[in-house]
Amino acid sequence: MGNSIAELIDARSQTLSAISDTPELDCRMLMARVLGKGRDWLFAHGDETLPGCQELAFNELADRRRRGEPVAYILGRKGFWKHDFQVTSATLIPRPETELLVEILLERFDDSPRQLLDLGTGTGAIAVALAAERRQWQLLAVDMDADAVAVAGVNARGLGNLRVQQGDWFGGIEQRFDLIVSNPPYIAEEDPHLADLAFEPRSALVSGPDGLDAIRLVIKGAPSHLKPGGCLLLEHGHDQQPAVTQLLEDAGMLNIETFKDLQGQPRAVLAKQA
Ligand code: GLN
Repeated sequence: MGNSIAELIDARSQTLSAISDTPELDCRMLMARVLGKGRDWLFAHGDETLPGCQELAFNELADRRRRGEPVAYILGRKGFWKHDFQVTSATLIPRPETELLVEILLERFDDSPRQLLDLGTGTGAIAVALAAERRQWQLLAVDMDADAVAVAGVNARGLGNLRVQQGDWFGGIEQRFDLIVSNPPYIAEEDPHLADLAFEPRSALVSGPDGLDAIRLVIKGAPSHLKPGGCLLLEHGHDQQPAVTQLLEDAGMLNIETFKDLQGQPRAVLAKQA
């Protein structure tokens, strides 16, 4: 007699507790993938035993998780806002705190025609969420990495108001926008926290000695790429709000507003073009 689904989940949850804050949830997600079922199904069928090949497949995925690979990369999917996104090792995994950027823009700007630019789009999470909520907007999402552009293109399928293209920040962009949004890399080169993010692309995380190189670049380019009265919204690191606010002031941006994420950490800044 083999192990039951519940026994396997329980046993592997224990081996994952050293590396994951959510070992049981991780195991349930991996098991659901192996069986091609939803997580609800697992609760009702925990007593069933698995054929050996499925037990093996589950153990292989759990081993990858134990070596530190995030569940999102193992599954190739991550939920963000109301959508399920393709993710690959070329893209950052969308974070719940980044939904703050989507919330701010939806709260402030209605569905009248606007042009929006998303810089460093990665999976396209921010742009896709906004394009689906604001059908009158025209969105352009840019990423430097060709593989990320391909992933964002897949995630943007079916959204006629969102275009994804490869580019180096504002490079080659002549147009002016009503809104510019960006979750750029913002971690400092020597930040010890990077050790926990080893599976994610360094270029999407790290930005110079103080983590502010990309943010400086975006703020510098914003005034000449915003229409008069247009707004720039940036995500930043938990300790960067004073520096980002100063950079925006230096660039002549007005009405600077700061926002905290769900953990209560300073996480975003919105500013208006003079
Ligand atoms: N929020 C991510 C982290 O610290 C970093 C994302 C980014 O650099 N844009 O885990």
